[in-house]
Amino acid sequence: MKFNPAENIQDLQYFGEFGGVNPSISDSSTYTFLSAKTMFDTFEGNADGCYLYSRHSTPSNLYLGEALAAMEGTETANVTASGMGAITSVLLQLCSSGDHIVSSRTIYGGTYAFLKNFTPKFGITTSFIDITNLAIVEASITNNTKVLYCESVSNPLLEVADIKGLSALAKKYNLKLVVDNTFSPLSISPAKLGADVVCHSLTKFINGSSDTVGGVVCGTKEFINDLRNVNDGASMLLGATMDSLRAASVLKNMRTLHIRIQQHSKNAAFLADKFEADGLKTVYPGLESHSSNSLYKQMMNTEYGFGGMLTVDVGSLQKANELMELMQHRNLGYLAVSLGFYKTLFSAPGTSTSSEIPEKEQKEMGLSDGLIRFSIGLDNNIERTYKMMKKCMEDVNVL
Ligand SMILES: *Cc1c(COP(=O)(O)O)cnc(C)c1O
Repeated sequence: MKFNPAENIQDLQYFGEFGGVNPSISDSSTYTFLSAKTMFDTFEGNADGCYLYSRHSTPSNLYLGEALAAMEGTETANVTASGMGAITSVLLQLCSSGDHIVSSRTIYGGTYAFLKNFTPKFGITTSFIDITNLAIVEASITNNTKVLYCESVSNPLLEVADIKGLSALAKKYNLKLVVDNTFSPLSISPAKLGADVVCHSLTKFINGSSDTVGGVVCGTKEFINDLRNVNDGASMLLGATMDSLRAASVLKNMRTLHIRIQQHSKNAAFLADKFEADGLKTVYPGLESHSSNSLYKQMMNTEYGFGGMLTVDVGSLQKANELMELMQHRNLGYLAVSLGFYKTLFSAPGTSTSSEIPEKEQKEMGLSDGLIRFSIGLDNNIERTYKMMKKCMEDVNVL
């Protein structure tokens, strides 16, 4: 049967303690044991189904984790307090002093800063490369390389990683392929294409209401247990634990994820087509002009579309700022970082979410000043939105 992430989520059911249609929320930080022996066994990791302390795991976090594992087709998952809490614990779990990471150079600014400025303190070094060129990726692998790291659709340039090709390299050199799938939930299923570990910032599309931060690591039981190990597990020891109340609310939001993603994709595809036809420099993986359009088509779960993210280059930072302020003024969206909200969000990544990346490197990777990143909202009438956006563009003379 064909892999369908939304149906996998839908088929998972957990009832509440009293037959509630939603699972009960575990509102406790610690758990009692009937016998001292079971407490000891739980510490040793030998008492399945027993809860110990909520930094380790909670029923609510496990419910959410299982739904996310079902979505990604992995054995299990561990939810975290933020996307960075997921990514940093994965990388610190997989790498020790002296190890090396080969990473895409177009990644989330926080991840870039972590690899560039933070992990060298622990003797972990990273080569940032053009992930779309497998020959360069292979040439960057050294005897010390442990991890290949990328985003399935990159932030903010919307480059698409060839996950199957990267997975073949990872197998050849005995590396772990870690993929951040935040930009393309449901649409791309990296584990099904060979990724070993899949991370998300739940803050974005998956929760979808811009009211919390959250993250998840999806992987094998063995790896997730390693992360939670009381003696040397990065999630357990670094402590980026999600709160149970929040896990319960993210799970409820996930119930509508497939409908939201379809609407985000439909709206973004419509606008991308129009903007491109108007002569704007538009990047959207669903456009035939996108260099990875056919690769995305090979990888995607078709019914969820090419996602809600697009970029438009309006030439200069000043024009970008003028346009964004005007669009906000006319209630077309918000001048804000982040993504996956019901409302359209826009920002200029060069001076915001990717400002951690030095200007010279921004230029090298094609991140220009006038680039506006859009997370297209759930607008009911996207044609009306388009007309209003076009008017804004005309009013600031970018069209
Ligand atoms: C936002 C984001 C992150 C970080 O997630 P937080 O929840 O803010 O910690 C990581 N990767 C990508 C692609 C993101 O967009």
